[in-house]
Amino acid sequence: MSQIDDLPPLRDVIDQHGIAAKKSLGQNFLLDLNLTAKIARLAGNLSGHDVLEIGPGPGGLTRGLLAEGARRVLAVEKDSRCMAALADIATKYPGRLEVINADALELDVSNHLTAPIKIAANLPYNVGTELLVRWLTPPTWPPFWDSLTLMFQREVAQRIVAEPGSKAYGRLALLAQWRADPEIVLDLPPEAFTPAPKVSSAVVHLTALKQPRFEADAATLNRVVAMAFNQRRKMLRSALKGLHPDIEGLLGDAGIAPTERAERIGLEAFCALSRAVKNAS
Ligand code: SAM
Repeated sequence: MSQIDDLPPLRDVIDQHGIAAKKSLGQNFLLDLNLTAKIARLAGNLSGHDVLEIGPGPGGLTRGLLAEGARRVLAVEKDSRCMAALADIATKYPGRLEVINADALELDVSNHLTAPIKIAANLPYNVGTELLVRWLTPPTWPPFWDSLTLMFQREVAQRIVAEPGSKAYGRLALLAQWRADPEIVLDLPPEAFTPAPKVSSAVVHLTALKQPRFEADAATLNRVVAMAFNQRRKMLRSALKGLHPDIEGLLGDAGIAPTERAERIGLEAFCALSRAVKNAS
């Protein structure tokens, strides 16, 4: 028996329901329920919150979220083999767990959740990054969620919290830091997972800011940053040449030397440049 609930240990659940990890679904499971409860606590105070969990698998993190007091958990899992195991958890927590068997990249969850909402997930890394970018770039801000607590490959986690001047600094850092407060809250070695992946992982907690840190038009900022880092070794006056005929003048208006490179420019200056570009177009 685990220490957080009286459901069977996850190894038994996996054997009973035949959920051998599939590489094609990026399945690296967390089997230590004390660890999944710890990750649930890193999401903050869950009571009074709906929690959206993507990729529950056999349900380790799901059990952590419920044991830590989430009002409701909506769990979206692509692998139908996990449904029976998740149904057993739902029975144990009546009315608090809804499971949807679907691809999270193709599902609109908005009708299934009531604010305030937190999101928690241990996802395959490619799906995690794609969803993170979507959650950070909704048409309006603030978004439907209060916080995100997400497992990433450590190298990706470092890109989310990176500061100007570092190799990891780029579009992901700027997107995350413009409208949220990202922080690495836990490092995990490969052995924490079954099977163990090749690389270390980290949990990133992002709190949504009420409003963006600096004023900018989202689409323009996105375009400027994507172009600037697409050719990160070039001087900005040539990397951004296609943006506007007088890009040198606009860089000057934003207080950026045209000979600078993207990786040395902070968020505030990128927002100033986006405003200059938007005003001039
Ligand atoms: N949360 C479980 C844990 O911590 O042990 C499982 C983590 S495992 C890294 C990723 C899970 O995401 C798997 O259960 C996998 O089937 C699921 N998954 C992968 N792609 C998905 C997608 N597009 N939509 C929903 N679930 C997905």
